[in-house]
Amino acid sequence: MTRDDARLRRLLDIEKESLLQDIAYLQSREHIQVSASNHMADSGTAAFDQASGDALLQQALHRLRRIDHALSKFEQGTYGFCEGCGVPIDFARLKALPDARFCLNCQRKREINGSPSPGPRAMEEGKINHNNGASKHFS
Ligand SMILES: [Zn+2]
Repeated sequence: MTRDDARLRRLLDIEKESLLQDIAYLQSREHIQVSASNHMADSGTAAFDQASGDALLQQALHRLRRIDHALSKFEQGTYGFCEGCGVPIDFARLKALPDARFCLNCQRKREINGSPSPGPRAMEEGKINHNNGASKHFS
């Protein structure tokens, strides 16, 4: 368990690094487009690019907060335990989603009771899997 935790923590560290790079890139890109749109006539395209860049930046910041939260749970020694019921989260689930906060049962309950639809989470899991693959290639 300890060894696996170290591996998951490494995954989170790697993902955090690549997220920080993404955020720095998106933020610098935003500045460039703001100044460029002063000169360009076809500001419609620039505005669209900037809107999608903003969305990406918001997504990246949101994921960074989740990863920071997971890393702080390492510091507190509570990483890998469900924040709802306290049971250890299934390792396969953690491997797919290292910043998971809840076991599958609690996640399902939250989806039924609280969140508006299961869609966003499903998308999020897909994104995380995709990004884990990408960050492995980068490092
Ligand atoms: Zn739980």
